[in-house]
Amino acid sequence: MSEKGAQALKELLEGDRGVFTAGERITGQGPSVELICPATGEALGSLSEASSEQVDTVVAAARAAFSSGTWAQDGPHRSAVLRRLADLVDAHAEEIAYLDAVEAGKVFVGSVEEDVPDVSGNLRFYADLITQSEGRFLQDATGWGWVRKVPVGVVGAVLPWNYPIAMLGWKVAPALAAGNAIVLKPSEDSTLSALFFAGLATEAGVPDGILNVLTGGGPSVGQAMGLHPDIDALTFTGSGEVGRAFLEYSARSNLKKVSLELGGRAGYIIDEEHASDFEGIAADVVGAAFGTSGQNCTASSRVIFVGDNDERFGQFRDALVAAAREITVGDPLAEETVMGPVINAEARDRITRWVEEAVSKGASVVFATPEVPQQGNWCPPTVLQDVPADSELGRGEVFGPVTQLVRVSSREEAVSAINDEPYGLASTVWCEDLKQAKWWTDQVRVGTLAINGYSEGTIATPFGGLRQSGFWGRDNGPEALDAYQEAMTVWVAQGLGPPREVNPGQEARSGTREELA
Ligand code: NAP
Ligand code: MG
Repeated sequence: MSEKGAQALKELLEGDRGVFTAGERITGQGPSVELICPATGEALGSLSEASSEQVDTVVAAARAAFSSGTWAQDGPHRSAVLRRLADLVDAHAEEIAYLDAVEAGKVFVGSVEEDVPDVSGNLRFYADLITQSEGRFLQDATGWGWVRKVPVGVVGAVLPWNYPIAMLGWKVAPALAAGNAIVLKPSEDSTLSALFFAGLATEAGVPDGILNVLTGGGPSVGQAMGLHPDIDALTFTGSGEVGRAFLEYSARSNLKKVSLELGGRAGYIIDEEHASDFEGIAADVVGAAFGTSGQNCTASSRVIFVGDNDERFGQFRDALVAAAREITVGDPLAEETVMGPVINAEARDRITRWVEEAVSKGASVVFATPEVPQQGNWCPPTVLQDVPADSELGRGEVFGPVTQLVRVSSREEAVSAINDEPYGLASTVWCEDLKQAKWWTDQVRVGTLAINGYSEGTIATPFGGLRQSGFWGRDNGPEALDAYQEAMTVWVAQGLGPPREVNPGQEARSGTREELA
């Protein structure tokens, strides 16, 4: 139990002020929403949603703050503010992790050690990056040019609940660094850490109106943002179905730039011929499949064993079961907990239904934790085998603590199990032979391929999906800035400037300002 966390929760729920704009929290004018703790099923309190009029007012505040130019046009200042914000995030890791634990069931220790440092790391990464870019300069006989990157303007960000603070960091850090104003809508299942973060942003010196948070549901506030004529770009992480809706909203409104990070159905391939330490691999698989209760778009929901040797397969399966047995399921706030609940009762019921359907169609249960808490939204970590292709689990993204063992005889079969899916977000290959690992990297078509250990890369590497796992844009890395900036060309005609000697026949030159001087 964290006293600081409990205090933050109390303050956030006091007075029903779930809309953050112009540097303060105000009361939403829309319907009231109960915040449920997924671990217990009990209500934490409630917050009122923003009304559609309030969405307009908040977007107008963001526009005014952006247009004033004080934020958009001063990169070094933004960089300094983002660094201060990073320090504040680190200093308040406990409160942030507590809020995500009680509201979204995130494991507290994992948040403190990984999610919160990811946010502060992101803020520092873009604080550095933004002061390093000056654009491209060039000249020819007719004049000289400057290709500069300008902020897109007002950015809308619609977030999922599975990594509330980390996903916020992935969107907010590059968007703010680039000089935009932001209107954020967290998922209704995970609003509190975003409201808390907004308070820290103001404390760090983010100007009023530059960062705004709207409490509200997808079909109401999310849709209003998607259709809003004065939001210039919209970044979304969530399901494919809602992602497609955002493309439609854009087409029906102002052609706002939409970037989508969507689901996945990651395969974890074990190349038996080049895999030695089954215990180590099994522990890695289990972490990748059951971390965040499997509610992770890169969760290893398929474990693909490549090889014909039955004995070796049996050894691996035993190692997997032994590793799964090690997982401590329970209270997200407890220090020993590895896996908490799933997000809500609807998710719990759907995951349970999918497992039952697969089993009724012939899947066998290799492992399932015998007991999970009865109250709240719990699903046991489960490993299945022989899941039929015509079941929900055989096709869809389970987004829960369920993985399936798949056995194939050839590497080519494993490659098609990955590449022939509509999803193409991430995959892991365990292969200790370098030459063979290079073969895998040339064959497997996904946004992130991890070799010899599950990973999503780092803050500095782009993250996003191929095929239907994404639509344009990336999170993380310098590439993330593309979704929040426009390229603008400035061309200064030679005739209008002071007279200048140009060597006849001189080629256009490009380079940095210093190189061209
Ligand atoms: P979701 O239902 O698509 O919701 C995502 C966000 O969209 C939420 O803020 C939601 O609001 C909002 N929304 C829902 N319906 C909407 C509508 N009709 N119009 C506008 N906005 C709407 O997804 P989720 O259940 O939160 O997250 C699970 C999915 O996200 C999985 O498919 C997972 O793979 C994907 N995901 C992808 C990544 C990635 O980086 N590729 C990362 C994490 C998750 P409310 O929740 O408030 O209704
Ligand atoms: Mg909740």
